[in-house]
Amino acid sequence: MPAGVLNSYKELLPLTNATPMITLGEGDTPLVKSNRLGRELGCPELYFKLEGCNPTGSFKDRGMVVAIAKALEEGSQAIMCASTGNTSASAAAFGAYCDLPTFVLIPKGEVAMGKLAQAMAYGAKVIMVNGNFDVALGLVREFTKKNQVTLVNSVNPHRIEGQKTAAFELVDSLGDAPDFLFIPVGNAGNITAYWKGFKEYQSLERSRTLPSMMGFQAEGAAPIVRGEPVANPQTIASAIRIGNPATWNGAVDARDESGGVIDSVSDDEILEAYRQLASKEGIFCEPASAASFAGLVKLLRQGWDLHDKTIVCVCTGNGLKDPDLAVSSAGGNTAEVEANIEAIEAATLGNGR
Ligand SMILES: *Cc1c(COP(=O)(O)O)cnc(C)c1O
Repeated sequence: MPAGVLNSYKELLPLTNATPMITLGEGDTPLVKSNRLGRELGCPELYFKLEGCNPTGSFKDRGMVVAIAKALEEGSQAIMCASTGNTSASAAAFGAYCDLPTFVLIPKGEVAMGKLAQAMAYGAKVIMVNGNFDVALGLVREFTKKNQVTLVNSVNPHRIEGQKTAAFELVDSLGDAPDFLFIPVGNAGNITAYWKGFKEYQSLERSRTLPSMMGFQAEGAAPIVRGEPVANPQTIASAIRIGNPATWNGAVDARDESGGVIDSVSDDEILEAYRQLASKEGIFCEPASAASFAGLVKLLRQGWDLHDKTIVCVCTGNGLKDPDLAVSSAGGNTAEVEANIEAIEAATLGNGR
C-alpha cells in the first residue's frame, strides 16, 4: 500500500488526531537522472522530478490531499476551485474518493482535453466560465466567501503545505538540496511551496544547503517578469496561462531569498523542450512542465556555466493530458502501409532493399 503524502510527512504537515488519513497514492514520485540531454548540454548531474506520476497526472494531488483532509476535518460539505485543468482533475478525484460534491470553474475553451475528461469522469460539476483563469478564480473566491463551500485553490494554505513535500522528497533522494531547481510558474503556488519545503528541511538539519530557485513563466503570460499583471495571457502551455498569480509574493520571495531567477520562455522554446524531453529522455510531460527544462536550455545558451551543478527540473504534469498538441507537434514520423511484410520492411529498413 502506498503511504501517501499525509502518512509520509505527518509531523511536518498541519495534521491533528482528527484529520482523516486519506490517500490516492500521491507523492513519492520518481527522480530520474538524465541519460542524454544532460550530457549533450554539458551538465551531467541533471535530474527530472516526474510529478506526472501522481494519481491524477500532476503535482496538484500533493496539495489537494491535505486541503481535502482538512476540509473533511472541518466538516465541509462541498469543495470548489477555479482551474486551468489539473487542479480540477485533482479536486474531482479526491472529491469522488471522499464523497464531497465538487464544483470546478474552468475558462471555457482553454482547458486541455485530457484534464476536462478527468473532471467529468470523476463526476465533478464542471462549470465553464466565459472568462480566463484569473476571472474564474475571482468568482470562486467570492462564491466561497458567501457560501458554505470550501475553496481548494492554492490560496488555500493547506495546498502549499502538501506541495512542499516534493522538496522533502528531493532532499531525501539526493542526500541534500540540489544546487538549482528549475520549475514552471503559473499561479506561483508550487515555487512557493518548494521553497518553503527546502527551508523547513534545512532548519531541521535534514539538508545542509538550499537551492537557487529558477522559475519560468511563458512569454505571453509572464506577469512576474514584467512586474505587472497581464490582462489577456496567451501561451500554448495552458497550465501556466495565468496573468495575475495568486501567490505572486511567494514567488518573488523564493527568487530573492534563494538568489534565483524568474524569467520567461517563448512558446517555441517550450515546444522544443517538450519534444526533446519526450524523444531524448522518454519523458512525456505536458507543455507547461517543459518550461522548466526550456528555462535551463535558455540560461545555458546565455552562457551560464552549470557543468558541475546538481540540477533538478520539475516535470509538473503528464503529457497525455494534452494529446491534441502531442499529435499536432510530434513532427509526423508515421507511415501508413499495406498489411504485408515487404511494405513493413520498406517502411522500417528503407526502400533500398
Ligand atoms: C498548476 C500547474 C503548473 C503551475 O503551478 P503553479 O503552482 O500554478 O505555479 C505548472 N504545470 C502544471 C502541469 C500544472 O498543473
